[in-house]
Amino acid sequence: MKNILLGIGGLVVLLIIVLVTRTFLYGGAPEGVQSVDLPDPPAVSAETAAQHLSEAIQFRTITVAPGDPRPGQEGPWLDLQAWLEETYPAFHAAAGKETVPGGLTLLYTWQGSDPSLKPLLLMAHQDVVPVNIGTEGDWDAPPFSGEIKNGYVYGRGAIDDKGSLIGIMEALDALARDGFEPRRTILVQLGHNEEISGSGAQAGIQLLQDRGVEPVMALDEGFMVLETNPLTGGTLGFIGIAEKGYLTLKITAKGEGGHSSQPPHNSATVRLSRALVALDENQLEADFSKPPISDMMRVVSMEMGFVPRMAMANQWLFGGMLDSQFSATPAGNAMIRTTTAPTMLSGSAKENVLAQRAMAIVNFRIHPNNTPEQVMQHVRDLTDDIGGIEVSEAEGSIGSEASPVSAIDNRAYGVLNAVAGEVGRGAPVTPALVLGATDSRYAAAITDDVYRFMPAIMTEEDITGFHGTNERITVENMGRLARGYGQIVLAMDAGEE
Ligand SMILES: [Zn+2]
Repeated sequence: MKNILLGIGGLVVLLIIVLVTRTFLYGGAPEGVQSVDLPDPPAVSAETAAQHLSEAIQFRTITVAPGDPRPGQEGPWLDLQAWLEETYPAFHAAAGKETVPGGLTLLYTWQGSDPSLKPLLLMAHQDVVPVNIGTEGDWDAPPFSGEIKNGYVYGRGAIDDKGSLIGIMEALDALARDGFEPRRTILVQLGHNEEISGSGAQAGIQLLQDRGVEPVMALDEGFMVLETNPLTGGTLGFIGIAEKGYLTLKITAKGEGGHSSQPPHNSATVRLSRALVALDENQLEADFSKPPISDMMRVVSMEMGFVPRMAMANQWLFGGMLDSQFSATPAGNAMIRTTTAPTMLSGSAKENVLAQRAMAIVNFRIHPNNTPEQVMQHVRDLTDDIGGIEVSEAEGSIGSEASPVSAIDNRAYGVLNAVAGEVGRGAPVTPALVLGATDSRYAAAITDDVYRFMPAIMTEEDITGFHGTNERITVENMGRLARGYGQIVLAMDAGEE
């Protein structure tokens, strides 16, 4: 007995040594990130950039439904494009501009002197989401006024995505005024309908693919530096190296129908409910072992206390605990797994009629760890033994796989990492997963190196304006965007890869 106890005691001591050692060895900047010295781009006044953003916000380039803008309603887009030409004359003189056929997406080409270098592709979008009817009065300034007050530019599109669009234009116009002549061709694609389908960006990427263009990097919206991030509470730079995919399934339960005065057990409606409960209780599996999540854990663990760090360093033992901690918040859960969201329901058309078909629409956001086929199989496996359940892709669903995960050991990521570090005043920077969809998902067709980052720093309150009330960006951030994009262009132009 004594020997057994000694044996167990020895094992416990050994386990503790392993856990603690692994914890001390764990964490820090992700491996392989290149260190890059950032060049100084020509100065751009933050106030001027903010004033220009204010003007850009006043063009109501709102997209709501597929096909927007409808024929005859292109005015705001054409006005914005004419305004860009007037406001950024040096860039427009240096670069060629074309409209991508079939829409209002713009593609600029600033020809580089060395055709052996792969071009740089900067992306942003011209359109914005609408303001919910009845909420205009909740804004501190009217949503399409572009009013500048208390150090902020207010208006729909300030963050998503006219801030980036103007930042790119400010940077490139300043470079052109300064006499900069790129060695590496600079491409700028401004999508016209990102908020509905992104068909404009898709067509633009197709055009580049037809021309055999393979960018050294495609840079789009998606992340920034967060002043107080929900993971550690401190400042953290996020660079999106992947984004989730999208799948909508229709789940149908069939039944006999008939009068509700003599209902059967386990009717179509009840079986549909069982299916939804099964989906809710059996989420797709989380996996922390691969980038970007594995990299992100290493970075954030350095900002956390010993116990959470020990859990992250020893996932073989604490994986279940980590899973339940991340899963406790919708944002954390969305980061680690494919999410399951039942959104629409229908049954019978009348209160005293049994449903012959009860139907639910379930929207999945697919993690890079999963494929759409796996999600479909998961749903079939869970609903198979309920009986009378059919699973199919919803009509008109814009199904897409998760994007590939871009590398972090190349110059492109190194440059963004350095810019994010400067914007965050030395705060750590982490690769991250973008939870929504951006135009950049199409760019994967022409380059492995797709990144999602804007050189700005925001608070949690700023982020709530994204698609919401009081969308705004600081005047200072407009200066950071102009400087950051200038740094990215110059640093990529200096690189050989
Ligand atoms: Zn956007």
